[in-house]
Amino acid sequence: MTKTYLNTINGQLVGSDKTFESLNPATGESLGSVPISTQQQVSEAVAAARAAQPAWAAKPDAERKALMMKVAEVIKANAPYLTEWVTREQGKPLGGVGPDQVPGARFELWGCEVWTQVPASLDLPVEVAFEDETRRDEIHRKPYGVVAAIAPWNWPLLIAIWQIIPSIRAGNTVVIKPSEYTSIGTLELVRIISEVLPKGVVNTVSGTGEVGSFLVNDPGVDKIMFTGSGPTGAKIAEAAARRMIPTTLELGGNDAAIMLPDADPKAMAMGLFWGAFINMGQTCACAKRLYVHESIYEPTVQALKELAQAMPMGNGMDEGMVMGPIQNKMQYDKVVSLVDSAKKAGATIVCGGEAKGGPGYFYPLTLVTGLKDGDRLVDEEQFGPVLPIIKYSNVDDAIASANRLDAGLGASVWSSDVEKARAVAGRIQAGTVWINQHGMIHPMVPFGGIKGSGHGVEFGVEGLKSVTRAQVISVKK
Ligand code: NAD
Repeated sequence: MTKTYLNTINGQLVGSDKTFESLNPATGESLGSVPISTQQQVSEAVAAARAAQPAWAAKPDAERKALMMKVAEVIKANAPYLTEWVTREQGKPLGGVGPDQVPGARFELWGCEVWTQVPASLDLPVEVAFEDETRRDEIHRKPYGVVAAIAPWNWPLLIAIWQIIPSIRAGNTVVIKPSEYTSIGTLELVRIISEVLPKGVVNTVSGTGEVGSFLVNDPGVDKIMFTGSGPTGAKIAEAAARRMIPTTLELGGNDAAIMLPDADPKAMAMGLFWGAFINMGQTCACAKRLYVHESIYEPTVQALKELAQAMPMGNGMDEGMVMGPIQNKMQYDKVVSLVDSAKKAGATIVCGGEAKGGPGYFYPLTLVTGLKDGDRLVDEEQFGPVLPIIKYSNVDDAIASANRLDAGLGASVWSSDVEKARAVAGRIQAGTVWINQHGMIHPMVPFGGIKGSGHGVEFGVEGLKSVTRAQVISVKK
């Protein structure tokens, strides 16, 4: 019998009659059991959040901030324990923290700490929208009430923190459902942070999409934050529309990176590499299609190949690993199928391209050339360790390629001339366009998609506003 990890509901640890096993993607071994929450338990979690919310919102700002700094402290104190959960359950290597370190599970925990401290230090002061001798109109920010959060499996703790922390900073309470692929780390994170928060402020439920559906359809929910795939996002938007409640939807992306003719392939290779392959490419805002000008195409492919072949891949618990497994079979099969389709389309596999064989969902870092727009590996989000590198001769064509899909999360432009890159960046349809870097999110900088990548932003003051509603107080003078 494996240990069952429990949900936190109203400050109590709660199991369920039905459970499932969480598996280690590097070994296939069971890591423990996870409760499948019943609809009744979901209702109880939402009711607990509702009951806790008025007192939580009524706390003086300074007190809420201080409690949130305590949350950051307990995350730091428990980082070694939680880091191991991230590696064993999600698969990313332990790695390190700092500019020269592999961005793995230690980096994820460091991110959890920072993405707690920063919102804790932000304020939403009253804004004066208009004032003259006849009237004064103020905008006050009010919490929505209960936020339902649904998380994916790629950065299970960090994305949970992105959903939980701004919500509670603004005076909401939260019920979060982690992905069924990576539940234990998140259940443990919430159990630990709940020790310094009033009961009911943060609650968990666990299970598959059905449990997520119970949560987003619960009449006690006032706002939904969802990070995950487009099709699930659409179902959640429908549920929200029926009850007229707002959503923040962070959906998939298919970010284009464009290397302009004056880009330096050698100098930019490392940034491009991590832009594409952080977390084995299983990151919403990874570079997923690389468009390179014909004049620098060969040296760019060569520089990336050298890096890809030098990165040790294996069980992330072994210090020194840079790459781990793909997180789950569904995603592994998708990657295999997309690479097969590229081979059938006549592509050249520059490196990788052959599955290693079990145990574990290991797949080598793979670079593919000879594809064009319309091929599956270019048009579909691979969400894995495979990068198609597409040759172009005209910058206008590369911009048109970047914009032709129904995705608009991130993009990047690479050049030795920032002004030239900025002009191209302004023409790309994406929530964020990075110049000479890719995927470099920051807790003070709003982040979110357009088109099929969703709507609403997280992080910074804008992210905090998105978990509040505006109330206008209009005074006649
Ligand atoms: P998914 O949509 O399959 O699952 C996400 C979550 O939704 C899981 O917790 C799942 O149980 C839950 N869910 C499934 N059906 C539901 C329903 N009907 N109602 C409520 N909840 C339901 O996505 P995934 O496979 O976990 O994540 C991968 C996808 O997420 C990729 O497409 C990726 O690009 C995207 N993603 C986006 C971002 C971002 O910030 N934009 C970040 C990470 C991942």
